[in-house]
Amino acid sequence: MTLALHGGTPVRTAPWPSWPPPMDEAQRKLVADVLDSGRWGATQGGGVCADLTRAFARLSGVEYGVAVGNATLGLFAAFKGLGVGPGDEVIVPGYTFVASATSVLLAGAVPVIVDVDPADLHLSAAAVEAAITPRTAAIMPVHLAGSPADMDPLNAVAARHGLKVVEDAAQAHGAAYKDRPVGGLGDVGVYSFQASKAMTAGEGGLIVCRSEADHEAIWSVCNLGRSLGGAWYGHPNVGWNLRLTEIQAALLLPWLDRLPEEVERRNAFCDAVDRELAAAGLPVAQVPPPPGTTTDSRHLLMLRLGEPVDRELLISAMAAEGVPLDGGYPPLGTMEALTGAGARVEDCPATEAAAREVVWVRQSMLMEDPSAAADLAEALSKVLPEATRPA
Ligand SMILES: *Cc1c(COP(=O)(O)O)cnc(C)c1O
Repeated sequence: MTLALHGGTPVRTAPWPSWPPPMDEAQRKLVADVLDSGRWGATQGGGVCADLTRAFARLSGVEYGVAVGNATLGLFAAFKGLGVGPGDEVIVPGYTFVASATSVLLAGAVPVIVDVDPADLHLSAAAVEAAITPRTAAIMPVHLAGSPADMDPLNAVAARHGLKVVEDAAQAHGAAYKDRPVGGLGDVGVYSFQASKAMTAGEGGLIVCRSEADHEAIWSVCNLGRSLGGAWYGHPNVGWNLRLTEIQAALLLPWLDRLPEEVERRNAFCDAVDRELAAAGLPVAQVPPPPGTTTDSRHLLMLRLGEPVDRELLISAMAAEGVPLDGGYPPLGTMEALTGAGARVEDCPATEAAAREVVWVRQSMLMEDPSAAADLAEALSKVLPEATRPA
């Protein structure tokens, strides 16, 4: 069969669902209410941002939260609030979005990039342990693709060495580890509402934490160094304006009601992919979630190719077949911007293998009816023989 890339008939011409999904009535109404109220900012307190913050703290199983402009700044604020800064090192996984590391740089600390587990691609406790120095102050498990990092071993290493645990939950709204929600598994968790994420207001972020002292410190960082309940022009600390707007919060608060349904929908699609890949006998398998995963929120579906392929050809040929795949992250440790800024890079063989062998199916596609998983398997069956390099 001729590849669509070479003029053949594409496997699929139907569009995939768009992301974000259309606003529902509850979102429309709350956004209109906020716009009509003229209370577009959250400085007065008690508005939609406050409701959203409480809802996310509850979702995460903790007491406190702070809504912020995005997750990059949320991670930065978490480090500032926890007192992690110049002279400190923060251990981050090699297979993640660049902001995991640049937030550490923004706080003045040094990102230490370590390898991920070769099977599930999440931060490895063994790699963390091997990279600890007297300067290590914190670790950052990333709940990659919507599955929670294997937190028990990571928390155990952190406890043994007196390290803070900051969870990057930017991709994991609604995910759970051993029936405990992410975000509340370490000291601080940070969600993103950037346009590609599982809940979005175009941009946005939210920090959750369990300790009152951490909450006060992080709130102050995000509110120009004010103290909670203190004077408007009293600034006992150095801080910035990192606040979310009420308009953004109005898009997000009603979304929480349908999040579990959307997570289920994506899981149904991913289960169908498993069945279709097995039926087609393809050398492709889902990257399994870490042990302890009880809810995978399925922000992305990561597929590992079992044979060496020409990735560029694979990705352009799949796009031409109407089933686009994403090439995923290059290894964090290969980015000159990070090494040039002082990041320390440990050996990352599993990360490098992931960059070669793993491709992603985007969240919008996972929202499609599970029957469309057959298109993915069919397009892979067509493209892989052409893209596979002789061993
Ligand atoms: C999106 C993302 C971020 C950054 O979130 P922003 O809200 O865009 O700043 C950080 N970490 C991971 C893993 C992400 O996917």
